[in-house]
Amino acid sequence: MARPNQARLNLAALRNNLGLVRQLAPHSRVMAVVKANAYGHGALTIARELDTLADALAVACIEEAEELRDGGINAPVLLLEGLFEAAELALAAERNFWVTIDNERQLVWLEQARLSRPVRCLLKLDTGMHRLGVAPEQAGLFYRRLRASPNARDDIVLSTHFASADDTASDQTRAQLALFEHACRNLPGERSAANSAGVLAWPASHLDWVRPGYMLYGNSPMVGENAGGHTLQPVMTLSSAVISLREVQSGESVGYGATWVASRPSRIATICAGYGDGYPRLAPNGTPVLVNGRRAPLAGRVSMDMITVDVTELPGVCIGDEVILWGDGLPLGEVARYAGTIGYELTTRMPARTPRVVITP
Ligand SMILES: *Cc1c(COP(=O)(O)O)cnc(C)c1O
Repeated sequence: MARPNQARLNLAALRNNLGLVRQLAPHSRVMAVVKANAYGHGALTIARELDTLADALAVACIEEAEELRDGGINAPVLLLEGLFEAAELALAAERNFWVTIDNERQLVWLEQARLSRPVRCLLKLDTGMHRLGVAPEQAGLFYRRLRASPNARDDIVLSTHFASADDTASDQTRAQLALFEHACRNLPGERSAANSAGVLAWPASHLDWVRPGYMLYGNSPMVGENAGGHTLQPVMTLSSAVISLREVQSGESVGYGATWVASRPSRIATICAGYGDGYPRLAPNGTPVLVNGRRAPLAGRVSMDMITVDVTELPGVCIGDEVILWGDGLPLGEVARYAGTIGYELTTRMPARTPRVVITP
């Protein structure tokens, strides 16, 4: 039998999660974010499902957009990080990629291009994230130059991005939104601000276009909260299996560096997934996995190809039994918290070694 690891993809869950976005933001159009290989899920698999269900898709760069077009995706595709070189504009015009304009250099490229047809532009304002975007005081100037260029479509979208929308106790989102609305007050056109956290927690940020990513994959980005508070369903379930079992005596250690030592006679199950399969190496002793649907704690360091768990409390575990590392029954965000990171990183870093398999119940 082949190595049993799989990242199972539930596309009904994806549709459910998009439905939740529509329910929460009924007056907004949805730009579904599928950058970074759809957060590791598989760009084309996810985009084919969303092509006709979302109003547009969004990726980081033109290479990702081309992969979608080459794969038969028809929806408009926004380049979230804007242009890296002027030559991308001709492709954007031909292939209906929308471009983010977030600095002077990109604006000049657009003004000086000779395009087969104008491109749709999102003018991005920096309202406090301080990463990309033009200063709010410059919004009017950029907007007028875009309107004056025959290379930009007239239906400019004004956009911004939140730094702390995942934290309902923070005032930053309200402040960013106020600054955004003030900067855009005299500029006609559609507006876009909300990421997943904006969709979930900040109704005033929904505006004309929402841009959810993480929640579409069934996870909640909110600080101090599991996805359980909503009806989000995990799209990816990472599964593996038990390949070895042994008894260890009190005082014996397990794994590299002997970081776990048995405090009682213990039964250890070895599972054939490690950091080479996308499981985080920094997951400490005690991080839960599901063995036959029941929780068992990690015991010993994560290896490249394996982990070891303490199944002393789970009688009847056998070689070949299924193990779930995250997904159905075990929220990605919970595993990520143990490992000191966020669920975004775990799925995005999943290597090609772990096959993505569509299994929609
Ligand atoms: C990645 C990204 C999003 C989606 O963020 P989530 O937290 O995954 O919903 C939205 N907007 C921009 C500009 C992004 O880069």
